[in-house]
Parts: sequence; C-alpha cells; structure tokens
Amino acid sequence: MASRILDTAVQYLPGVGPRKGAALERVGVRTVDDLLHYYPRRYLDRSTITAIRDLRPDGEAVTVVCTVRAAGLVPGRRMQRFEVIVEDASGSRMTCVWFKGVRWISKLFKPGDRVAFHGKPQQYGRRFSFAHPDFDKLDAEGAALDTGRIIALYPGTSGLEKAGLNSRTFRRLIYGVFKEHGLEIPEILPEWMRERFGLIDGRVALRAIHFPRSQGELSQARQRLKFEELFFIQLLLALTKQTRQEVAGPAFGPPGEYVRRFLDEVLPFRLTGAQQRTFEDVVQDTARGIQMNRLVQGDVGSGKTVVAIAAMLLALDNGYQSAFMAPTEILAEQHYANLRKYLDPLGVEVRLLLGGQSKTLRAEILSDLAEGRAHIAVGTHAVIQDGVQFHRLGMAIVDEQHRFGVMQRAHLFSKGENPHMLLMTATPIPRSLAMTVYGDLDVSIMDELPAGRKPIKTVLRSEKRRGEVYQFLREQLREGRQAYVVYPLVEESEKLDLKDAESGYETLKETFRPYTVDLIHGRMLPYEKDEAMARFKDGQTDILVSTTVIEVGVDVPNATVMLIEHAERFGLSQLHQLRGRVGRGGNQSYCILMADYKRSAEAEQRLNAMVATTDGFKISEMDLQLRGAGDFFGTRQSGLPDLKIADITQDVDVLQQARAAAFELIARDPHLRAEEHAEIRRLFERDYARRSLGYARVG
Ligand code: ADP
Ligand code: MG
Repeated sequence: MASRILDTAVQYLPGVGPRKGAALERVGVRTVDDLLHYYPRRYLDRSTITAIRDLRPDGEAVTVVCTVRAAGLVPGRRMQRFEVIVEDASGSRMTCVWFKGVRWISKLFKPGDRVAFHGKPQQYGRRFSFAHPDFDKLDAEGAALDTGRIIALYPGTSGLEKAGLNSRTFRRLIYGVFKEHGLEIPEILPEWMRERFGLIDGRVALRAIHFPRSQGELSQARQRLKFEELFFIQLLLALTKQTRQEVAGPAFGPPGEYVRRFLDEVLPFRLTGAQQRTFEDVVQDTARGIQMNRLVQGDVGSGKTVVAIAAMLLALDNGYQSAFMAPTEILAEQHYANLRKYLDPLGVEVRLLLGGQSKTLRAEILSDLAEGRAHIAVGTHAVIQDGVQFHRLGMAIVDEQHRFGVMQRAHLFSKGENPHMLLMTATPIPRSLAMTVYGDLDVSIMDELPAGRKPIKTVLRSEKRRGEVYQFLREQLREGRQAYVVYPLVEESEKLDLKDAESGYETLKETFRPYTVDLIHGRMLPYEKDEAMARFKDGQTDILVSTTVIEVGVDVPNATVMLIEHAERFGLSQLHQLRGRVGRGGNQSYCILMADYKRSAEAEQRLNAMVATTDGFKISEMDLQLRGAGDFFGTRQSGLPDLKIADITQDVDVLQQARAAAFELIARDPHLRAEEHAEIRRLFERDYARRSLGYARVG
C-alpha cells in the first residue's frame, strides 16, 4: 500500500528533464522521496533579514535582501575580480565580491535583480562587503517576503545554477509534488509513537519544512523530522543489540582460583569501587551463555587494565583462552610486561605476538595457542586477527577501542568464534555521542581514579619563560622523578616533525647534562621503540623526548612531568591523553603546555580548557563543541549514516526520545510485523538493514 510516488524518479516530474535531472542527481536527489527529504539550508523571513545600515564587522554571518545596482569585472594586480553593488530597502549600499569562479558568477547578476546574500560582513572604510557570499536570486518571492512569508533556501545549488537548479526550482518541484500527490505520502510512524512523543503528522511536517506558515510550525516540523532521522539509527542499534542477544557465547561459572589469587595475593592494591562494579558486570554477562558485548568507558588512569586481566582470568578459570589486543606495538609490549609480572607467579602462560618476529618463534607461539598450551595472547589487532587459531577462545579484549569504528568491531573475529568481547576506551565521550556510537553495547563507566592520586597541575607557558620551565624540570629530576617532552606530529610531513623532536632531543641532552635523555619516535623499528620504552620504565632514562607515539596507554608511574611543545597544534582529546601519561603514581604531577603567542581563538579555547579541568568527560564535551560531531567521531567513520537535519551535539533530548521509541517498538513488536509498523519496516530494510553486516535482523 506504500505510495509509489515516492519511488518515482524526479526526472519524470513535470519540468525536470535530463539536464535538471542530472544536476539533481549530483546533489543526491534521485527520487521524489529524496526530493522531499532534501531539506532547506536556511529560511528567509522578515525577522531573519538584517538591514545594511545595521551591519557589524563582528564575524557573525547575516542575510541581507537587496537589489543589484551595478555589477562588473574589476581589474586587479594579479587577477580580476567581480563586484556587485547592492542596495536594500533602507537605502544603504554594500559590495559583494568574488575572486574565484569570476567568469560564471559574472553572468548571474544584472542591475535590478533582487537577491538574498548571506555572509560575514567585512568593513572597508565606511563600506561593508561580503566576499564569496552565499546567494539566492529572488523573483516573485521578493514580494512574498514583504507580505511576511517564510521562504526556504536550499543547499548545494550555487554551482548548479547553470543547470537551472536554484532554490526556486526546488520550491517549485516540491510544491508540485504536494499539489498533485500530497495525499499519497504515507505516514511512517505509528500513532502510539506520535502521541507518546508529541510529534506532528509526518506529511504535515514534510510540507512545513519546505513551506512553513510560521516559525512555530517550522520548529514542530524540524522536531518531528529530527526524531524520525534519529529514530532509524536507534532502531538499527536496538535491533543490532537484540540480534546479538541471540548469539550464543561460552557460559562461564563464577570466578575461581585464578581470579581469587590474582586479587588476593598478586595485586598490590585493592580494586576501586568502579573496577569492582565493572568486573561484576563482566561476571554477570558471561554467565548467561550469550556473547558479551561490553564497553568499559574509563578516563585515563582509572585502571582498566586490571579489570581486563581479571576478565581473562575468569575465562581461564572456566577453561578458556583470551586475546588481548592493543592499537600499537608499544602498548602491546607494555601489556605483555604487565601480564608477565602479575601472571607468571600464577603459572599462567602469556604470549606476545608482534609483526617482526622470526618465523620459528611465531610458529612456536601459534602452535602453543592452537593446542592450548598458552592461555593468553597479547598483540596488535592486526597480528591477532590475522590467522591466529585458538584452541578455545573465550574472551577478547580490545584496548583503546575508540580507535576503531563500529564496522571494524563487527569484523573482529571470523565466523564460528564468539568469544566474549570486552572493549575498553580511555576517551570518555559525551552521553549523546555514546548513545549513537556505542548504542548497541552494554556500557560500564569507570569514573573513579585509584585512591591517593593527586590531580595533575596544568600550566600554560610561553617561550619567554622556558628558562623557568627548565629550572622546574631540573628540580623534579633531582627528586628522582622522570619527564616526557612531546613534539607534535603533523601527518603530512613526518620528516619535518622528526627534525623538531630530534633537534629538541640534542638541545635537551646539552641542557640537562648529566641527566640521561632519550628519543622515541614512530619511524624507529619496533624493537628500538621497545628498548627505549623499557629503559624509561626502568628509570635508566630521565627525560624521554617523543613524538606522539607515546600518546595512548603508556604507564610509567614515576614520570611526573609532561611537557608538551607547540601545544597549540594538538587537539583537545589528544592533549588530555598525553597528560594522562603522568599522575599515575603517588607523586604530584605536572603538565606544562608550551605554546606560541600567535594562536587561533580555537587553540586558545583548547589550551584554556586543559588548564581549567582534568575531567575527561568535561574535556570531551568541550572537544565535541569545538569540533562538531562529524569530526569528533565521524558518523561515517563509525559506519552510521550521515545526518541531514539532526545534530547529535545539539539534539540530545530528541535523541533520547528516539532511542526510547526504538527500544519500545522492538519490545512491542520485535520483528516489526504489525500493519502499523509496515512503513518503518520497509524504510528500515531499504536504507538501514544492510549497514549492519547481518547483525540487525528484522524478522
Ligand atoms: P588506564 O585505565 O588508563 O588503562 P591503567 O590500567 O594503565 O589505566 O592503570 C593506571 C595505573 O594505576 C597503573 O599503574 C595501575 O597499576 C594503577 N592501578 C590500577 N588500579 C589500581 C588500584 N585499584 N589502586 C591503585 N593503583 C591502581
Ligand atoms: Mg590503558
């Protein structure tokens, strides 16, 4: 019964034809359905228009509606530019200027045209100007505006004007669809859901998003369409979770001797409350005979490794092997050393798998794992997933999981093996994002640091005070502490950065004689890195100069100073991770951010945030605000569809409602068989089901 009009190609709409059809296709509009969901990028109404005489050069983007008075090419020193002089109803004038695409832009404007320009005004003398503004030519709408209407402007049209694609085209096409076929557009969400969450009718919402009659109606429409968009993502996650709950996994009994001896005899400290709770979560999950999929979200230094070890010993108590995977070889080495320290006394056999190992050594390790002589394999993901056979794999730990997207998670193990999965991340992510990126997992939060830790003191210093900073460093070294000095890594020019770190290393060696200074960077061979790391860990090195290779996971409790050079070049999360390398023992630790005075406003905010707080959750909230969701945890990278209207950083309330709705739906109708859920099922199968790698099954 679903409407076929939605599946019709836009090419067949009156007035489209092949040329416009191709242009529409370039902005992703193939069917009528795509067209209706091609949302306006902005609206024009009297309340959102600024008069030219009220312009301010304050960096805020504004819209002016005006008439072109003059337009022409202006010769310049190196190239010509195109300028239009415009005047608005207030009688004031301004200039719009283009330096690029001059040739085609210059054909678009002539005196008398009414145009809406959108941009950030700059002031030259008394005249304001927009450089490369966004624009929409207005015809009849100009008059409509005067009568108080709200006019939708569409994205992506500026390069396609030539093909006759502008905001007016969109409005005309969409209006036509509503006029001829409005009644055929189906409602997607069932009545119970609309009622529960106060949503307006879907058809009304779609119409209002394109032709709003008032700001109130527009905001209701946006609410409804955001809900719908987030709802389908949450449904994907809910179904993935539901399907996973049908995947069998080994049924573990309660912790036995290995766990007991580890906690009571070997571990030199008691578990924190958060560690205990998280381990109990693991014990419960693994007892059900269903595969565990748990994420441990804990700030740097909260002691996730201990929980991981306990989980692996739980597996061993039940006769199963474990795999412990880290993102880098340095980290794998460190985990291996740690495990040997704790587990050798218990007679547990641990093996380290690395890329550069000799054939004979590797063959030996592989056969130990395949025949069950070894209990735990530690290595990088690549190495462990690449053809390692286990005798009886029961537990897989993924450290620093945030480095992997949702999709990669699904690929971890080949078919047939369903070990319990414990994923650990040191990047606390804001709740809104966690619900989207990890919405299919069970989550344990470790929000407690081991007792006795002193908060790290963070300061911001400029070049002028380097002498003072070095003096302080010297005092710390004299007290027997160690320090990291980190240089940024800009990916395009690894060589150059290396030079930075290398020359820093030479200088520091001179300056800090007779203290020992060592260098570690990404271009060293794995064993060289390991040796450098081991020397630092053993206390043979006082200052470790490094590029960002030490970023994740490294744990040397005697190191108390983290000096970050060119701190303005690092992202906020990265700075937080780096800072987390100190403050891991009982001594007061320090993070010193060396930064140039010349820095962007955004860099300034990052540096200030670092000085203001050590709370990883707050840091991640700020990081999200500064970078925006796409960049922070690219939904694309995470394998989820792009969002067209909702913004997970802003729309947390809608997200929560959409999540509740999705989970309620599958509780009511697990296989979406009810007639009132038919549209949801159809759209889900069309757009989402294949994203799930077979995890989310509807029926
Ligand atoms: P992260 O959560 O960042 O991976 P680690 O597991 O590396 O943290 O632990 C950080 C440090 O804290 C390690 O030196 C570890 O031995 C220590 N540690 C872990 N748990 C406790 C605890 N309950 N009490 C005291 N120290 C602990
Ligand atoms: Mg760790």
